[in-house]
Amino acid sequence: MKRFFAGVFWIGVYLVFSLSPLVLVLVGETPPGRSFLVELSVAFGLVGLAMLGLQFALTARFQRVTAPFGIDIILQFHRQISLFAVGLILLHPILIFIDDPSQLALLNPIDAPWRARLGLAGLLALLTLVVLSVWREKLSVDYEVWKMSHAALAVAAIAFSLGHIILVAYYVTLPWQQALWAFMSVGAVVLLIYIRLWKPVRMARRPYQVAEVKEERGDAYTLVLEPSDGKAVDFRPGQFAWIKLWTSPFGIEEHPFSFSSSARDPERPSITVKALGDFTSEMEHVEPGTRVYLDGPYGAFSNERHEAPGFVFITGGVGVTPVMSMLRTLADWDDPRPLLLIYGNPTWEEVIFREEIEDLQERLNLTVVHILEEAPEGWEGEEGFVTPEILEKHLPSGEQRYRREYFVCGPAPMMDAVEDALSEVGIPHRLVHTERFELV
Ligand SMILES: Cc1cc2nc3c(=O)[nH]c(=O)nc-3n(C[C@H](O)[C@H](O)[C@H](O)COP(=O)(O)OP(=O)(O)OC[C@H]3O[C@@H](n4cnc5c(N)ncnc54)[C@H](O)[C@@H]3O)c2cc1C
Repeated sequence: MKRFFAGVFWIGVYLVFSLSPLVLVLVGETPPGRSFLVELSVAFGLVGLAMLGLQFALTARFQRVTAPFGIDIILQFHRQISLFAVGLILLHPILIFIDDPSQLALLNPIDAPWRARLGLAGLLALLTLVVLSVWREKLSVDYEVWKMSHAALAVAAIAFSLGHIILVAYYVTLPWQQALWAFMSVGAVVLLIYIRLWKPVRMARRPYQVAEVKEERGDAYTLVLEPSDGKAVDFRPGQFAWIKLWTSPFGIEEHPFSFSSSARDPERPSITVKALGDFTSEMEHVEPGTRVYLDGPYGAFSNERHEAPGFVFITGGVGVTPVMSMLRTLADWDDPRPLLLIYGNPTWEEVIFREEIEDLQERLNLTVVHILEEAPEGWEGEEGFVTPEILEKHLPSGEQRYRREYFVCGPAPMMDAVEDALSEVGIPHRLVHTERFELV
């Protein structure tokens, strides 16, 4: 219940801040000769801009704000709402052109006044940002390059837009209007200081170090971490953290990894990393004693957020890491509830934590169903991918099916297929919790 009210509170804060520019339009005196359409276009533009400013707050990873929802939901909201905000901002010039088509001449940057040039520059920065975000993979833009350009384009879009507003000089002349704009601008600067200075300084004060590196099946390595100051990482099983390795806490490069260890052993948290790209392929070269900076824990993908008489975990490949943390923690609590793990992998040799999962069956009321894409000779288990038929065969029957909470984590195509399959066998969406390893 506390989580529900905290959620409602933060949604309220978001609405107040995003709609606050409307006060300027509604309370301020309308300049003479301005049509309703132009006023409406200004309102859309200002609200869209406020929403863009709030995008920085959404990605600042304030633990109080993210806790009620889970940062994954916040980041998803960040993505979806950005398209809405861009739509509002685009409506600003469109309505002006509908009101007076001669204003289309403002699109020519050579003859246009600076107020229009800045508006156009802001819009172009924004549209470039959207194109790079939506089609990053198709355009083969490296994640780190995308991340830096994303921040730069967002700051540029807001700076150009503010310049545009100042030069247009409507709703910025009265002292109270200037105070409102100053408040919002200072807020943005404070956010930037918090993200770029305060957080790294806090991380620098609490470094961790690699205590052990263990090779796992499936091209994966587990890094066991130790807090240098002996303070435990207070995480819930299934949560993740952003990790900085071989860089200063002020460095730009950081990667998110789920904790794979038991939350009952918070003094020695571990992450398990599968080699998939430049950074993750370097894990075998990590030396014990290497410094690690950690920003977390984050995420709502945890069985501990749900009261249920049993859980079903459906994972593929390295998606097993947050599930492993949940299983290990449940085992450490001697939890007697029935658990089902449906675990897909390309081959039997690549099944990460295969032996330990077998051992966990001794300690937990755990049923494991392995699904292999390429099964070895004599394999009597499931083959192929997770399908509604496989789910129908292994999920609890009758009422019990609807009394479980379902946790799904794996490669994106597998997650899409599993979500569809779960819905096909009648599992309501509210019982299904997912963790996607692709943030963008
Ligand atoms: C919540 C969450 C938990 C995760 N947990 C695990 C885990 O337990 N074990 C594991 O092996 N992997 C995990 N991942 C995935 C892991 O973060 C990426 O595989 C890794 O960052 C890829 O980096 P790379 O340079 O090796 O690969 P690249 O080839 O550079 O990137 C491959 C893909 O990974 C993503 N990616 C790359 N860099 C980053 C970054 N800095 N931040 C976010 N995403 C990035 C992009 O979608 C990119 O297209 C998790 C991801 C998320 C979002």
